[in-house]
Parts: sequence; C-alpha cells; structure tokens
Amino acid sequence: MDELDEEDALIYSHFTHNGFVAFKEFFFEAFFVGFVIAIFFAEAGAFGIDFPDDTRGFFGEGIDEIDIASKALEVLPLATYFGLALGGRGLGHDFHFGQDCNRNTIWPHKETHALRIPHRKKYANFSYLCANMALAHTRIYGQDSPLPRPPEGRRYMAYVETYGCQMNFADSELVAGLLHQEGYSFTTRPEEADLILINTCAIREHAEEKIWQRLRYLESLKTVRPHLMVGVIGCMAERLRQRLFEESPVVDLVMGPDSYRHLPHLIRQVESGTKAIHTLLSREETYADLAPLRLAPNKVSAYLSIMRGCNNMCTFCIVPFTRGRERSRPCQSIIQEAIQLAKAGYKEITLLGQNVDSYNDNGLRFAQLLRIVAEAVPNVWIRFATSHPKDMLDEVLETIAACPNLSPYIHLPIQSGSNRILARMNRGYTVEWYLERISAIRRYLPNAVISTDIIVGFCGETEEDFQETLSAMRAAAFDSGYYFMYSERPGTLAARRYKDDIPPEVKKGRLEQVIALAQQLSLESNQREIGRVHPVLLEKVSRRASEDLTGRTFHGKAVVVRDIARSHQPGDRVFVRIREVTSATLIAEATDASPLGVD
Ligand code: SAM
Ligand code: SF4
Repeated sequence: MDELDEEDALIYSHFTHNGFVAFKEFFFEAFFVGFVIAIFFAEAGAFGIDFPDDTRGFFGEGIDEIDIASKALEVLPLATYFGLALGGRGLGHDFHFGQDCNRNTIWPHKETHALRIPHRKKYANFSYLCANMALAHTRIYGQDSPLPRPPEGRRYMAYVETYGCQMNFADSELVAGLLHQEGYSFTTRPEEADLILINTCAIREHAEEKIWQRLRYLESLKTVRPHLMVGVIGCMAERLRQRLFEESPVVDLVMGPDSYRHLPHLIRQVESGTKAIHTLLSREETYADLAPLRLAPNKVSAYLSIMRGCNNMCTFCIVPFTRGRERSRPCQSIIQEAIQLAKAGYKEITLLGQNVDSYNDNGLRFAQLLRIVAEAVPNVWIRFATSHPKDMLDEVLETIAACPNLSPYIHLPIQSGSNRILARMNRGYTVEWYLERISAIRRYLPNAVISTDIIVGFCGETEEDFQETLSAMRAAAFDSGYYFMYSERPGTLAARRYKDDIPPEVKKGRLEQVIALAQQLSLESNQREIGRVHPVLLEKVSRRASEDLTGRTFHGKAVVVRDIARSHQPGDRVFVRIREVTSATLIAEATDASPLGVD
C-alpha cells in the first residue's frame, strides 16, 4: 500500500467500522431469519447460492434507498453465510477501499460514493454488504408509524442550530437553502419548529457533549409536539451514524456533511414512518450549484465556502474522517456567488476551506482565485481562513499586498512550538519554518494581523515541549488566537498510535499559561494601535451601550466605535481613530482623517 492508499484506508475503514458494529448487532437476527429463508430455499430445491464475483451485479447499480429493506431480505441468507464464515475472525479495521475509483457503486446514491477494490476484493465486497445491512437495519428498526403532520394549511417551520467552525455555519446556510426550496419558513425558536436540524461539531469531546445535552432538551419538546422531526447533521452525524438513533430516541434523521443534497428525500422518508440516514462521503461534492440561504441577522458579512474536506491527516484531527477528501469548488461558481452577495449588499466575504493554500481548480491556485474574487467584487472586503504553514506561498501574500480589498488578516495555526510534537502531529513543518512564514507575512504586509490555533497537552508533550510553545508564541508575537486542550478523538491517527498521557490537570494548567501569555501579547498588539486611524466595517449595535456600534477593522481587529449609532448603521464603513484598548477590543471614535494608503 502506498501512503495515500493508507490514508484512504483509514478514512474508509473508520466509517465502515460503524457498519460492522451495526452488522454485528444485526447478525444474530439475520442468522435466524436467514436460516428460515435458507430452509425454504432448500425445501424448494432452489438452495445453492453462487456468490457473485462483483457485488454490482448482485445489487444492481446505484440501488435506491427505498429498495434497501427489500434488498436486505434478499441478502439475509448471504449475510448469515458471511457472518458464519467470517464472524469468528474479528471484523476490526482490516477492510479497506482503494484510492482510485472505477465506480463499482452499490451505495444507495451512486454519485456520492465510489470505490475500487484493487486487492482484498472479497473483504471489500463483504464490507459493501455490511454497510448496506447497516442501512437496512436502520430502516427496519425505524419508527412504527408516520409522524403526525402539523395542522392543515400551515407552512412548515424549520429551526437550524449550528455548532463549531465557520464551515458549519456556511453549511447550515446551504441546508437552509434546500429547506427554503421545499417550502419551509424559518424560526429562531426551537419551541415553535416542526423540523429542528442540529449541525454538529466532532472536533473535541466537549463539542459532542454539548450536542447530547441539547438532544435531551429536544426530547422534552417532542413530548409536547409529537410531529416534531429532529435531525442531527454535520461532523458528529458522520462520526456516530446510527449510534445517534440508538442513543437518542429523539433523533429521526442523520445526515453527514456530504449528504445535504439528499435532505428533501430523507425528510419524506421520516414523514413516511422510518428513521433516515445518509452519511456517505464523496470525492466530488462541492455544492457548487446550490444557493445558500443567509440565516444570520447581520446582512453585512457572509461566508463563502471554496473547498471541502482535508487531505492533511494531522494525527489529532477528526476532520478528514468526518468531511472526507479535499475538493476545490470551481472558481466560476465562487465568483458568481461573490457577485450575488455584493449585489445583495454584503460588504465582507470570508472565503472558507480547511487549507485554502491547497485550493486547486484545474491548476488555478489560491493566489489567482484571491485576485479574481477581489477584482470581481472590488467594493467588498475579502478575508479567508484557514492558511496552512506548510503550504502558504509568498504569492498569496504578494496578492494580498496588491489588492486593496484583500484584508491582511492571516489565521495561521501553529498548534505547537516543539518540533518533536509537530512531527508527532504530522503537521509537515518545523518551528523554524513556521517563524520564517511569519517573517514573510510581516515583510509583505507590515500591517497584518496574525492569529493562530494552539493545542496543549498533546500525547507525550513534556514540560520542555510546552515551554517551546510559549517561546514560539513570543517569537511570533501573535495578535490573537484560539487555544485548546488536546482531546483524543476515536479513530484518528493519534488515538491509534499514541497514548493520551497528559493528565487533565496538567493540560488545564498549560492552557491557563497559554491564555495568560496570549492576552499579554494581544494587549501589546492592541496598544500599538492607539492613535492610529483604521477603516472599520460596522456590524451591529453594541450590547453594552446602544449609542455605540461594533465592527472590525479592515485588518481584522474587533472594535467598538463610540457614539456613532445615531449617525450610522450596520453595513456602513467609517474611518476611526483608536483611543483606548483592552486585550480583546479596540475602542475608537469616528474621524474624517483617512489613513495613509487607504481611502
Ligand atoms: N484546518 C485548520 C488547520 O489546519 O489549522 C483547522 C481546523 S480545526 C476545525 C480547528 C482547530 O481545532 C485546529 O487548528 C486545532 O487547533 C483544533 N483541534 C483539532 N483537533 C483537535 C483535538 N483533537 N483536540 C484539541 N484541539 C483540536
Ligand atoms: Fe485537521 Fe490538519 Fe486538516 Fe486542519 S489541516 S482540518 S487540523 S487535518
């Protein structure tokens, strides 16, 4: 197996593993029913099943979900046989799908998943079977009767709740677009919704705990609104799949990040009385043709997703397993959406990808995309996230310096300041390389604001490694950042290779030290702004004082502009002079003076 094969194998074995677990539970039932069917065939003189070389022939191409329950009955004797033959050998993770596809698809939607079985073909065929059985299992053990419908003549109301990263917020807007097409209207109160979708995050254990808590609350809602349909979508849905049905009775629908297109179909499935699941990862899906419905009340800033998935396989990270392989959205569809947003009055667009520096639309790379977008919507400020230190090129920095509406805000996660830990994390760079990239940013963009992500307490992190992280923070002089305690995620490379051996209290202590230093660095960075003039995009009324508006400077710092609410409104751009600062915010007043080089 070459390196890429191994990565694919990991991703796919992770998700087929869930199929196996379900299969194992299903197996005993399958055995008995299969046994009865086998006797029937034997009695009829028809028993003697030939195992097909290629399961495509057996299942038919692109079988539809509707057929799965009946197909499951067809495969029961086979399931019994396979179960008997292989059950004792341990089903573990030893099944893998190859890298390139020849589209031997037997998954319900052939466009969403394709795979090839270059070797160990029979195991892969078996895992096809298990996965389909798992789906059938879900259907067979779904609800008994159709959900009651809301009172006649009323429009269905949807409530979409989003957890996690900006990408999830962008995805929720895609899903909202689909619901809108289906005739749903939207509410901000789950208590009055007919459909609740929770878009979930799996990045840390704590993120998932919050979702379980939320589902417990939704159980109480369902007791008073029996027709309520609840869906869990996004990364946790992709990771846990049918376990969500098993562990939370309130969940009717489970849908992974590459399955949103199937939402209308899944809703109808739940309405007809079965639980619905679609969690197949795709190599092609970019949702380029779907129109998001902007949910945020602020019609000033919008997220625009330019890629999906990630190929990096940082050892701590669940994202490649929940969001699949990296795909770049075609440049043309990005431009179209940017132009639509500008026409709709948006003043700021953030381009999103897990690693924007590896954007590649048939050879068109990120720096070119940035320039094209910036020129297509010259009156819109453009930001982006996330850059990867191993891939960020000078060309991107040159482009930002050359285009007046590209914000010099760079989010460049370092994760650790120790080369030994960076190697264990499989980040693909050293601290020296990282700090050289910081120097390059400051060289091209002297005004840049740089933020970062740091994980403390990764497996095997010594006090010395940790001190190196603090030193790197000082050397990079970060303006801001996001700081986390390492949280082991099942199925990741780190969970397989290393022991999560740093005690929680040590992780906590290190996190506190990182936050204290970060606050000091942010304060120093903000103090350098006192007296400077910046263009600011006003976003909303301040929660603390109704005469103030809050917003962001062009280079990405949060700012409160005093006494401006009477003369201006969210969406306006103004020049401000910075008067005071805290470690988190600049406090400013509007001014007529324009800063050098910006007008
Ligand atoms: N793609 C981005 C990158 O490579 O920097 C980040 C994506 S991830 C959604 C956001 C951040 O979560 C990461 O940069 C990392 O600091 C943090 N993170 C990811 N996995 C984690 C884990 N298992 N435990 C703690 N923090 C984690
Ligand atoms: Fe996760 Fe690394 Fe990909 Fe970021 S680059 S999403 S941390 S695997």
